[in-house]
This record gives sequence, C-alpha cells and structure tokens, in this order.
Amino acid sequence: MVVKRFIAGAVCPKCGLMDKIVNYQDDTKNYRECVSCGYKDEILIKPVQRELETRVNTTEEEKKAAVQVLNFPPKT
Ligand SMILES: [Zn+2]
Repeated sequence: MVVKRFIAGAVCPKCGLMDKIVNYQDDTKNYRECVSCGYKDEILIKPVQRELETRVNTTEEEKKAAVQVLNFPPKT
C-alpha cells in the first residue's frame, strides 16, 4: 500500500506551483511527485535515517545509565 502525503510549502521545480508535491515510498525508495504536472523525483534519505537511529540509541543508553545511578544510591 502506497501512502502519499502532501509536503506543506513544497514548490514543484518543474511547474513552480506550491503545495502540489506529494511524498511517498515503495519498498526501498522515497519519491516526491507533483500532482499538477507529473514531475517525479527520487529522494535519498536513507543515510539521514541511520544517523537519527544512532542518536536515539545513544540517548536511550544515556537515560538507562542515569536511571541506574539514581536507583543505587550509597546507603549511609
Ligand atoms: Zn509540477
């Protein structure tokens, strides 16, 4: 199933109309397409997604470490 979403404020590089660009993806690639003139382009965003995942994982690790410190206070 292909879900197409309009990109707010996006301007078509071919016909110049705003809010006519939809974004959708198939199995492996992302595309943007103009519903007005039929312009279609591939969007390469894979490397960005990997970078974000790495940052999220790092943040979760840091949270766990912080919680562990709080759960084991030295008893005096
Ligand atoms: Zn267009």
